Amino acid sequence: MDWYGDFINRLITCRACSRLVGYRESVKPLPKFSNEVYWRKPVPSWGDLPNAKIMIAGLAPAAHGGNRTGRMFTGDDSAQFLFRALYEVGLANKSYSVSMDDDVVVRCIYITSVVKCAPPNNKPSGEEIHTCVNNWFRYELEHVRPRAIIALGHIAFEGIKLALGIRAGFRHGDYIDFNGVRIFMSYHPSPRNTNTGRLRMEDLVRILRMAMEYAGCAST
Ligand code: SF4
Repeated sequence: MDWYGDFINRLITCRACSRLVGYRESVKPLPKFSNEVYWRKPVPSWGDLPNAKIMIAGLAPAAHGGNRTGRMFTGDDSAQFLFRALYEVGLANKSYSVSMDDDVVVRCIYITSVVKCAPPNNKPSGEEIHTCVNNWFRYELEHVRPRAIIALGHIAFEGIKLALGIRAGFRHGDYIDFNGVRIFMSYHPSPRNTNTGRLRMEDLVRILRMAMEYAGCAST
């Protein structure tokens, strides 16, 4: 766990991707958050260290989610869907994730993203994905050393493959094994997927349970 504090301290000063730095710092607050000071920096990962056996990796923080609250998968609709699922399987003590001081505690998981800064339209470029994976995400993988990884969305899966140097196609609900690590694939819990039924709560819960069983995270 010693690595984590140093990692976050270094991460939040990163300015390697000029387009993303410009965007994260210029996002205009939504009216409903107009009294908040946005984080506007690379968004820290978080989790149950040093006990995390499952890494949950999204694509990148949302402009009004992590880029506002300063914690990955916190404060937007995708986060609420994810945390309802995590609560359902006993990996979180609350069914929401709204702010850094919301008293949410997770167990056995580490929540991260392959790109650490909010991209315009949720679309980082290939070069930005490479830069962030090479600068930060691979380092996290090497230090968390998860037994299972859940890729939320195909671009997150691309980042994981890049970090590990593997080739495979994305198939929702499926998994691949690499050096003893099982990598599960799920559609991203974005409103576009969850509101259309492309990703249902029972699907995500099932994937979480499979990862828990493989990684040895006992149900509560
Ligand atoms: Fe740095 Fe990653 Fe943000 Fe690029 S996306 S500026 S590499 S933290």
